[in-house]
Amino acid sequence: GRRPIVMANWKMNKLPDEARAYIKDVAAVVQAYPDVEPILAGQDVLLQTMVDAAEGTHIEIGAENVYWKEEGAYTGETSPKVVASLGVQYVIIGHSERRHYFRETDEMVNLKALAALKNHLSPIIALDESIQVVSPNAHMHWIVNQVIEALKGVTNDQMAQVVLAYEPTQAIGSGMAMNADLAQKDLYMIRETVSDMFNAEIAENLRILYGGSVKPENVYEIMRQTDIDGVLVGNSALDPDNFAELVKLAH
Ligand code: 13P
Repeated sequence: GRRPIVMANWKMNKLPDEARAYIKDVAAVVQAYPDVEPILAGQDVLLQTMVDAAEGTHIEIGAENVYWKEEGAYTGETSPKVVASLGVQYVIIGHSERRHYFRETDEMVNLKALAALKNHLSPIIALDESIQVVSPNAHMHWIVNQVIEALKGVTNDQMAQVVLAYEPTQAIGSGMAMNADLAQKDLYMIRETVSDMFNAEIAENLRILYGGSVKPENVYEIMRQTDIDGVLVGNSALDPDNFAELVKLAH
């Protein structure tokens, strides 16, 4: 089976002291559930603090974005090579907020995913769903296309490091998670696309997350779906007690 993931995306929140206190709090609880992989993603400036605080626990740390170049004259960007050197294992690529506020295109998402893999960071590639997509056909095409564009040039071997995350735009930060049965249908479609692009075994082993207003009240219904292997959580996971609760309920 696929090891379930509960992942917090702190986005642009938390001070270093708060990050340390949070990790200390949750470490005590999550160690009782080693079958669940807990991942915390934070801003670049917090990553070293987070890695240090998580040392000796099975909590993994993720970045929220990286650039696709490893070094050079790119003022203000963050190198995947440097992020990996800190002991960070994951990086979110193509989050809906990056696509919308920072105009990241499918092509940029693909370049970033490839750069992350080359530097031994596991990309958690986020797929969104435009609110403009209305017909079922357009909806399917939109998602399938994002999967195809994001995974261009990824090798079969590298696919073992990839995680996908489906985050419908309307569900992010709205308090209204997508209906779990409908989310299941979309994640099944994503897995089928990966099967067509690579092979059935790679698709079977791939972990796919759902994100968008996940909280302790709805996580069980979401996690019990066949193709949903984990959750990517914003608001609710800013609270360490909620995060610990999500891990318990996902187990
Ligand atoms: P919320 O859980 O706040 O809806 O955010 C979801 C998200 O964007 C996680 O990456």
